[in-house]
Amino acid sequence: MVTDCETSLSFLALNGFVATKIEVFNHDTQEYETISLIDEEATAVSFRTETLTNEEIDEINLLLYTKEGFMISNEAYHKLSMSQRNYEKLAESLADIRKDVNSLQQISLGTQSFEVEWFLGGDWKFLACVCGLGAAIATHPCIWCKCQLYDKYDKRKEWSLVDITKGARTIQEIDQMSRGRARADQRYNVKKPPLFPSIPLDHVIIDSLHLFLRISDNLINLLILELRRMDEIEKKQTFNNGFERTKFKHMAGWESFLNDTLKIPFNWFICKETKKLKWRDLTGPEKMKLFRNIDFTQILPNHSKSADIFTVVDTIYGHNRHAEFI
Ligand SMILES: [Zn+2]
Repeated sequence: MVTDCETSLSFLALNGFVATKIEVFNHDTQEYETISLIDEEATAVSFRTETLTNEEIDEINLLLYTKEGFMISNEAYHKLSMSQRNYEKLAESLADIRKDVNSLQQISLGTQSFEVEWFLGGDWKFLACVCGLGAAIATHPCIWCKCQLYDKYDKRKEWSLVDITKGARTIQEIDQMSRGRARADQRYNVKKPPLFPSIPLDHVIIDSLHLFLRISDNLINLLILELRRMDEIEKKQTFNNGFERTKFKHMAGWESFLNDTLKIPFNWFICKETKKLKWRDLTGPEKMKLFRNIDFTQILPNHSKSADIFTVVDTIYGHNRHAEFI
């Protein structure tokens, strides 16, 4: 375990997060013990306490997740931080890597030769852009198949991420479509030639942690909307008399479920200027904790769709069970 810790901490340090202390919970004494990792006297310590932003916490979690999930070595991990999600800019900044990826298919070491297998990872926006596809709000948003958005989805059809007879895309098809002159509605959201035509789509892998975090944002917002509906304030824009918890029982129940049951600090509050209801977004680890422990019978008692909602959340959480370290 010590080696695991050291590997993870050194990996984080290489990526810009240097740990100075770690806290370990001692089960015998039921207390936290602090282990200092640097010589504090020799280091200038800032008295300013800075809190990590949600993005920074997400970033640390992603690094740990990548490290643990793929057993990747410090040397092998190269991250591309892209602030630009524009195809032309990406094509330009990835030019060198594209050349290497497309030409380097084999490495020879002495008498042995090794096949190189390339994988492309990232979040949805990045992968769609790099694969030559348009926005996720398009009629055919999927990176891997040509299924239409759910509102036009014909349930009798079967779709596959890899089987072309069931509508799966291929990188060659994207390439051809991008060069063809088909009408916009027959291009299946293909905009440009893929930037890595030699990497097949089954080697294009979405970062499931970020995918989970974004989906959970939507689920939490929908849940809050449902709580507002049940308290009959879904249309109420301003709260001039504060937020009366005895009147809004479901909303208050959510607040106390987070605070008391899960020990996640959460408050509904009214903005002084606008009188609108506000709340903070949960961080990555808080979302994981929430979805691991969510209890709909407590939050939405007597709700007709409680069981359906539970199934949806269980399906999503099930896919993220391996992210146990959070
Ligand atoms: Zn699909």
